[in-house]
Parts: sequence; C-alpha cells; structure tokens
Amino acid sequence: MAKLLIVEDEADIRELISFNLEMSGFEVEKARDGEEGLALAKNGNFDLVILDLMLPGMDGLKVCSALRKNPDTASTPVIMLTARSQDDDVVDGLESGADDYITKPFSPKILIARVKAALRRSESSGVGQEAGDSSRISIHDIVIDTARHETFAGGSPVDLSATEFSILRFLAKNPGWVFSRNQIIDSVKGEDYPVTARSVDVQILGIRKKLGEYGNVIETVRGIGYKMKGE
Ligand code: CA
Repeated sequence: MAKLLIVEDEADIRELISFNLEMSGFEVEKARDGEEGLALAKNGNFDLVILDLMLPGMDGLKVCSALRKNPDTASTPVIMLTARSQDDDVVDGLESGADDYITKPFSPKILIARVKAALRRSESSGVGQEAGDSSRISIHDIVIDTARHETFAGGSPVDLSATEFSILRFLAKNPGWVFSRNQIIDSVKGEDYPVTARSVDVQILGIRKKLGEYGNVIETVRGIGYKMKGE
C-alpha cells in the first residue's frame, strides 16, 4: 500500500483529497502548511507528495525545492496543485522539481489517476527492478542506471527529478534520433497528458543545467525538438 502525504492549507480540499485517496486504498498523512509538510516528509518515507502551490508562509515551490535538496526525499514524486491554469505557475512548479501538476478545481477521479500514474513511473524508474548490465545506459561519459534510478556524469552523481530522469533515459536509449516535444511528453507521461511544449523545454533546461559540462549531449533541433548526440 502506497503512503501519501498531502500538504494543503484549505481544510475542505485537504479532507476531500484524503477521503478519496483513502477510499482508493492509499495510506494518507496530512499537513496544513509547508513547514509541517517538510517535517513529516523528512521522516515519513512517503511514496508520493501532493503539494498545494499556494500555502501560507513557505509556499509550494519552496517546499518542493527543499524536498529535492534532501537526499531522503529527492526522488519522491511530487504532484503540485495549482489554483490557476496559467503556464507560468506550471513552469515554476516543474522548475522547482515537481513531477506533475493538477489545476484546481479537479475531480477526485483525475487526482487518483494522476497519483497512480506517478507511482507507476516512479516504480518503473526506481527500486524493485532487477539490476543488471542491461539496466545501465552508458553514453558520452554519462551513466544512467535505470534500476537504481541514478545518473552519473563524468563519474559524479547527478540529482535528477523523476521526470528529468525519464526524459534523459528516453533520449539516451535512442542516441542520434530526433524527438518532438510531444513525443517526449508521450514517452514520459503516456498519452493525453496536458503538458505544454514549454514545460518540456523547462525540463530539458533543468537536465542540461544539472549535467553541467555534459549538458551539451542533449542537442536542440530547431523547429523539431531534441536529441541525444549520436555515438
Ligand atoms: Ca492553498
């Protein structure tokens, strides 16, 4: 049974979410603000965090960044709840390391589907898979360990979010091939996923930044999309 943390200051929404998730068989803990959420997350060993963007005091973006910086929570999937559907919020959320976002108001059905999808992605890229040589992709001095969910560039560990990791893995599996932003979205999120082309750009930007001097292995193909430099 997956254990989820909900960080939401509005009591009605918090209770609605936790009720529906518990009905779906999840174990749920609740926090009323960012500070409480972070404190719980540090020791709670959660499988996923649902994080409201607009919180009193420490906002969702700061909480998300803090989760990403802590090794214990760095790879825990985060679904951000945003009040508006504006791209800027979404982009900010993804930049801070969120894996997915849902715009309020949303139906419990959508939320549960997104939670399950995020847990599946994190399982398939994380522990629980057989380790072996086939689980390691090695290209241009970058090593992607798909079983252990670890990335190394020039031998140094690189701290990628679950979404960044999935995109890098996808591109690295097909070096030299050009993919459109929509193909990248499909590969990472499955079909019908409402991520904008701009948010793919943000993810790629984040990956390049984190890869540092190795960031240029992901090439922009003007007017089309992105590719991993050919071998
Ligand atoms: Ca709120």
